[in-house]
Amino acid sequence: MSATAHRLIDQVARDGDDIVALAQRLIRIPTENPLGSVTAAAAFVAETLEGWGIRPVWHEPSPGRVSLVASLGPDDGRTLILNGHLDVVPAGDPARWTRSPFSAEHADGWLWGRGAADMKGGVTALLGAVRALRNADFPGRIVLALVPDEETGGRWGSRWLLEQAGLVGDGCLIAEPSGPGVSTIGQRGALWLRLLASGVPAHGSLSPYVGRNAVLEIIGILPGILRVAGRSGAFPAELQGILAESKAWMATLAGEAATAALDHVTVNVGVLRGGTKVSVVPDEATAEIDIRVPIGCSAAGLRQEIEASLAGTGVSVETLDFSEPNYTMPEARVARALAIGATTVLGAPPAFLLQWATSDARHFRAAGIPVVQYGPSGKGIHGFDEAVPVEHLALCSQVYAATALAFFDL
Ligand SMILES: [Zn+2]
Repeated sequence: MSATAHRLIDQVARDGDDIVALAQRLIRIPTENPLGSVTAAAAFVAETLEGWGIRPVWHEPSPGRVSLVASLGPDDGRTLILNGHLDVVPAGDPARWTRSPFSAEHADGWLWGRGAADMKGGVTALLGAVRALRNADFPGRIVLALVPDEETGGRWGSRWLLEQAGLVGDGCLIAEPSGPGVSTIGQRGALWLRLLASGVPAHGSLSPYVGRNAVLEIIGILPGILRVAGRSGAFPAELQGILAESKAWMATLAGEAATAALDHVTVNVGVLRGGTKVSVVPDEATAEIDIRVPIGCSAAGLRQEIEASLAGTGVSVETLDFSEPNYTMPEARVARALAIGATTVLGAPPAFLLQWATSDARHFRAAGIPVVQYGPSGKGIHGFDEAVPVEHLALCSQVYAATALAFFDL
């Protein structure tokens, strides 16, 4: 890296305290999804960017679902997208938190609060990098795209920007929590289904001679759907080493038993509803099912198979969420740039691994854009007492700046 690049990274390091204060202010603006409005947080970020002389474009395709897109650099040449989501999952019962979920307390080297790790910490680290990069010369474009709606599928956020607002790029870095030593480059597909059974209502005292029970219809077809659980993915040779490493990493985070989820289909019956009264034969019942599909397995194929198995049963199926498994190889420019960026700041490249959850990365990859995810790690993500190590904020911010420069061969 050039001397100019090193100076820029040093500048980001010196601004580390500001980044922590910025993260605190962002955490204190609740953006729980559902309900999903990020308007106040987006306004705060827009004002912050404007204070640095950067004017973001405000997109609001649905009330409260605000995306901010800010471009740096000339329109020709390569484009690097820096992406983060402003929405957070609900905090749940505040009494279960040791510190108030929106207080953003800084204690014991941690910053506490809902979204601290997932991913207002990461968003703030991106902002820190953008602040320094705005004064740099690079032969291409850096597009900061901060979005809503990631926690509920991305329809109004990243997906909308890609499909409706002309967002394009040659690589994308998403600040999802990974920890400074890891970058996630692949994920399983998601197939969320809602099954709806219609019955024929009758007096409960006449069942089963009269009426048709919708609850029993649903219960009858569930075992068939659960049979797809445990089916193996077929990993290409190029990913075998990464799969083995990912399993070892996952074992440390979620336990040995959980690692099977990386290369097998998982099925969760998350919601089962039906009936109105004990003495009435239910005329309607629903089940919502979360199926995750490993690399080498087809989500579309599974859906077809399930639809075929329901033929003639009186149970209909609706797709709530759908994506195929997807990944980016470590040879992609954005991954190589991240390896250089992390090596410059931390002395070593991150391990490129597979995640077991899904994220907005799928929308970018579906649009043909290679994606790496890299951001501050944390604890309590989607649980109680979420927190991010404060030192990760400045470190990741420096890595982002260095990665952006490396993306343009600077
Ligand atoms: Zn996230």
